[in-house]
Amino acid sequence: MAKHHPDLVMCRKQPGVAIGRLCEKCDGKCPICDSFVNPATIVHVCDECNYGSFEGRCVVCGGVGVTDAYYCKECFKLGKDRDGCPKIVNLGSTKTDLFYERKKYGFKKRCVVEI
Ligand SMILES: [Zn+2]
Ligand SMILES: [Zn+2]
Ligand SMILES: [Zn+2]
Repeated sequence: MAKHHPDLVMCRKQPGVAIGRLCEKCDGKCPICDSFVNPATIVHVCDECNYGSFEGRCVVCGGVGVTDAYYCKECFKLGKDRDGCPKIVNLGSTKTDLFYERKKYGFKKRCVVEI
């Protein structure tokens, strides 16, 4: 199973009431370890990651969310569900994308980690 690219950074802020979502492509995936088996507990994201255009977005890739996200049994056992908002905050496959995203979402700087 492919792991997240090591450059990907999770938000880790205090989750709010918003439920994390997954797109068609990531359906059934644990946002922490990419496991597709044993979903255990529903994912909550922080208010900022569910704000405006981010609302209902896939926590893994930022695509259009179609289903609720769950942490797998292993991550739940390890307490990863309490580590904070699991939304990937530095999305983008190329540096150009990252630069563009950063400009576009400059107002969300607090959620973006410098690479
Ligand atoms: Zn997991
Ligand atoms: Zn967040
Ligand atoms: Zn996705």
